[in-house]
Amino acid sequence: MKSVEQKKRILVTGGAGFLGSHLCERLLTDGHEVICLDNYFTGTKQNILGLLDNPYFELIRHDVTFPLYIEVDEIYNLACPASPIHYQFDPVQTTKTSVHGAINMLGLAKRVKAKIFQASTSEVYGDPQVHPQPESYWGHVNPNGIRSCYDEGKRCAETLFFDYHRQHKLRIKVARIFNTYGPRMHPNDGRVVSNFIVQALLGEPITIYGDGSQTRSFCYVDDLIEAFIRLMATEDDFTGPVNTGNPGEFTILQLAENVLELTGSKSELIFKPLPQDDPRQRRPDITLAKEKLGWEPKISLREGLLPTIAYFDDFLRTQK
Ligand code: NAD
Ligand code: UDP
Ligand code: UDP
Repeated sequence: MKSVEQKKRILVTGGAGFLGSHLCERLLTDGHEVICLDNYFTGTKQNILGLLDNPYFELIRHDVTFPLYIEVDEIYNLACPASPIHYQFDPVQTTKTSVHGAINMLGLAKRVKAKIFQASTSEVYGDPQVHPQPESYWGHVNPNGIRSCYDEGKRCAETLFFDYHRQHKLRIKVARIFNTYGPRMHPNDGRVVSNFIVQALLGEPITIYGDGSQTRSFCYVDDLIEAFIRLMATEDDFTGPVNTGNPGEFTILQLAENVLELTGSKSELIFKPLPQDDPRQRRPDITLAKEKLGWEPKISLREGLLPTIAYFDDFLRTQK
């Protein structure tokens, strides 16, 4: 049990999404009160069904592009579609969510003097020309391509966070999240881990975009949430941005081979065109996270794929 002073009231925007639902669960386990805000664009009530009976959990249907007046101690700002299919569905709304959403949540944090965390992204590095990517790298981003609504929206949100910090002395924490996977990923959002697992379980062809030699570094969700908690608990003079991700780097073909082996699937590999502006390679330099958060991921790709496969297996059975 937390004492009255230790127990915080914490707002999680995008709390019904993949990462948000795991974060809400962790904060409740840690003894806090959680207010989960979501407009259910990509999140679902299903993700937080297990939390609804908890008297310290509260749910608000709200769009972060509109102002919100409540009293909280901390804010985790996660609201934003995260996969290309969803953020490109209504790109103007994606930029609004990142930019107006950040302004509203920063305005709220300023009024109630709350500490505020921003879910930024490795996409601020674009198609990087420095590898692996340290936080000091400014990135290589197309300002007007089909990924720009997400990349530039998140970059502008970072600008706003640092200006509210400098101008209004807000306590901010900015995490640059690299590709993360685990149970409760959206089954149809087109991300590579969910696509490959669902395709393998259904015995459908595994869709490799390009020749599959592009790389990504995949972090299991529990490792990532631990980094969020540690970052929020750092001294006020540490703002980030800090890379949070798993430096283990795999080609997309290697990911496909792992998924096929662990599911025992006989699905064939098929090759499709590479989407526009698809980054060639991505791997976080996590030196700063190790130093400031005392954190590094513990769960290997194969260890993390097992519960993720089990989740989708169960999901597909109960959907039928
Ligand atoms: P997700 O799509 O599962 O979650 C996003 C949540 O935000 C959803 O529940 C959605 O309904 C909600 N949302 C979207 N627009 C909203 C709005 N205008 N108002 C209120 N709620 C809104 O995605 P996720 O993977 O859980 O990502 C969470 C955050 O982490 C996002 O900000 C994303 O950009 C960031 N991120 C995720 C990854 C990853 O690999 N999962 C990588 C980098 C950054
Ligand atoms: N805001 C909010 N909740 C609050 C305080 C502010 O949603 O509790 C929003 C409001 O829409 C405001 C924005 O945050 O426009 C930025 O607030 P800030 O105080 O920085 O600027 P201003 O009020 O001058 O626009
Ligand atoms: N990808 C793929 N097949 C799929 C989905 C994605 O080969 O069915 C590729 C995609 O082109 C990219 C990588 O996998 O190179 C990661 O894609 P994802 O959308 O998961 O994340 P992001 O590109 O945003 O890092």
